[in-house]
Amino acid sequence: MADYQAIIGMEVHAQLLTRSKMFCGCSADAFGAQPNTNVCPVCLALPGALPVANRRAVEQTVTVGLALNCQINETAVFSRKNYFYPDLPKGYQISMYDFPLCQHGWVEIESPDGAQKRIRIRRVHLEEDTAKSYHMVERTLVDFNRAGLPLIEIVTEPDLRSPEEARQYLMGLRTVLRYLGVSSADMEKGAMRCEANVSLRPAGSDELGTKVEVKNLNSFRAVKQALAYEIERQAEALDAGQRVRQVTMGWSEARGQTVEQRAKEESEDYRYFPEPDLPRLQVAPAWVEELRAALPEMPDVLQKRFVAEYGLSPLEASVLVDDRNVADYFIRTTEAAVERAIPPRIVANWITGDFFRLLKARDGEISDLQITPAALAELIRLVERQEITASSGKTVLEEMAATGRPPGEIVRERRLGQISDQEVLDQIVGELIAAHPEEVATYRAGKETVLQWFMGQVMRATRGKADPQVVLSLLEEKLKP
Ligand SMILES: [Zn+2]
Repeated sequence: MADYQAIIGMEVHAQLLTRSKMFCGCSADAFGAQPNTNVCPVCLALPGALPVANRRAVEQTVTVGLALNCQINETAVFSRKNYFYPDLPKGYQISMYDFPLCQHGWVEIESPDGAQKRIRIRRVHLEEDTAKSYHMVERTLVDFNRAGLPLIEIVTEPDLRSPEEARQYLMGLRTVLRYLGVSSADMEKGAMRCEANVSLRPAGSDELGTKVEVKNLNSFRAVKQALAYEIERQAEALDAGQRVRQVTMGWSEARGQTVEQRAKEESEDYRYFPEPDLPRLQVAPAWVEELRAALPEMPDVLQKRFVAEYGLSPLEASVLVDDRNVADYFIRTTEAAVERAIPPRIVANWITGDFFRLLKARDGEISDLQITPAALAELIRLVERQEITASSGKTVLEEMAATGRPPGEIVRERRLGQISDQEVLDQIVGELIAAHPEEVATYRAGKETVLQWFMGQVMRATRGKADPQVVLSLLEEKLKP
């Protein structure tokens, strides 16, 4: 096989987390609702209904554009993208074409060799979602609850070179969308969907080959598999002296291959023109600056800060920044821990270790747990200062998660701070008695205060943690003549 370079570009659609749909007042959260109950004349496209743009969706799109280092255009225009499909009630989709909200951005990904690589973002625009078709055996049903939901579309330049880079890019993008709180970006629920276009060229060449669009990539795994398959397919065709046809392929998870769907449409096929029912959007630069100032710290910046300020390893830091709630929780626990002279590294160990295991076992989110950062920091202090054992620490953590009670209270109640284990104390008492035959003889000769002296020795050996009742009865028994 000849040596080819893969040229990959990605288009991602993500549902925005607004209260209402893009152009009407219907709820934007109808997941699981009865089909066709979350609709109105606007999203059903009944004659005479007029759209009104959702300000919050525009704001969220600009925020995404800023986070992706885009230029925010002062004027954006909604356009009609005309095509017929049963899930499109108007016969066109309101989208943005030649005047999108955001352009010319970039993000950085970590390429497989470990270097940072910049992926250019061509555009970020806003549009409406279609309805959802359910293909049954003999008929197709359409649910319009989804029709008109706000969708953001994020398009890269063809800067990706491998399926792994594509996956890295998507994972990074998902994290950004979640950090901004603008989308659940949940691929399994269809809240984030992606398409890729792939072409091959001989290694070393500057020309672009014919690109093939691959749709229906519903998971990170599917993205990687579909792209690998498609690259292989095109390479084989080129090797055989064939031309790659410009088509749209779908990824079939079941068959593990891409399947041709249709010849690719060109943009002129859609007869785009400005939507006459909506005014052009005027985006005030002052408003953009307000949104820029309100941007949260992005995961890549946060990761670098965790490494530089807290001395974490890059891997540990990347695990912690993956979910913004986890990162926030880590920061707050670290602040509480530093007051207790516990270094951030120890906190990171706890959170990525026992704490994550607990989350996983309960299949929960960090916000569902009743453990406050201060309470976790206190528990870590108890273990670090050896006031309780590491295994007691795990028990206390579980009880904290279940009851929300502070660690000190649980330790006292369960007497975890005390050694009351018969076996452990039996050994300590036995060793002390064996080491002090003279004192034993004195006691047996009738000097009972020696018992107190032995008690003091046990307390010293256990740093005051031995249960006095247990020690007393053990001593009395073993010192008996
Ligand atoms: Zn509606």
